[in-house]
Amino acid sequence: MQALAERLDVLVGGATLEGATALAISGLKTFTPSPSELSGKVVSAVTRRGKFLVFDLGGLRTLVHLSQGGRVDVENPPKRTRPKGAVVRFNFLQRPSVLIKEYGSHRKAGWWILAENDDGPLAKLGPEALSEEFADFVTTGADRRRLNTLLRDQRTVAGMGRGYTDEILHAARLSPYTTLTKLTAEERRSLQQAISEVLSRGMESERKRTGGLPTKLPGRFAIHGHAGEACPRCGSSLARVSYESYEMVYCPQCQTGGRVLADRAQSQFLR
Ligand SMILES: [Zn+2]
Repeated sequence: MQALAERLDVLVGGATLEGATALAISGLKTFTPSPSELSGKVVSAVTRRGKFLVFDLGGLRTLVHLSQGGRVDVENPPKRTRPKGAVVRFNFLQRPSVLIKEYGSHRKAGWWILAENDDGPLAKLGPEALSEEFADFVTTGADRRRLNTLLRDQRTVAGMGRGYTDEILHAARLSPYTTLTKLTAEERRSLQQAISEVLSRGMESERKRTGGLPTKLPGRFAIHGHAGEACPRCGSSLARVSYESYEMVYCPQCQTGGRVLADRAQSQFLR
């Protein structure tokens, strides 16, 4: 998302927004200001906060959240079509247009128009994953939730999803089910280091992409989505466990001392 924001900033930073066209009824999450108030505003910057893209329009701000199936198309030349899954199209004077669309039936990608001094959904976000504030939390925090839950909770730390959480826990050799309070000082340092390394490396490779955000991002993750394949560190088979309606991938050899994790439904019987 960071790399995408940087690309969009290069693409439309400084441009005048001609208009934002809502292409799906449920996409726009705010009632006021209205999309028509965006016309003629100049994009002072495109940035990222948590998983949100932020179009700074000198006072007003527009946020975009892609959720799981959201994608970004850069249209050069700009189009007037309404493709399947389209959410909103931003048209700029003499620049490519930016189309937000969505795959699948979940319809969760959304956008917001925020008045000056309104932080909207940004107000609920925790510190950024690479911030000093979150590093302190990892070092001294007394959180008792499973690490897999904690790292994905945007109110605790902003910007990490399922993919990076799997990668980070694997890099730190920590069980997704352990908690911050159970970690030794050294394990906390490993976690901190893994967060920093995995996210920095991810950002480097994402920066090599061009254009929008395609459906498929091959090679993005080494662990996430690779259940059944060989662990890149020890060669044993990566395992999966279903967790809160999605699949989490880990290496039993590297992360759980050989123990296979039970999923939620199973664990009630196994307890
Ligand atoms: Zn392994």
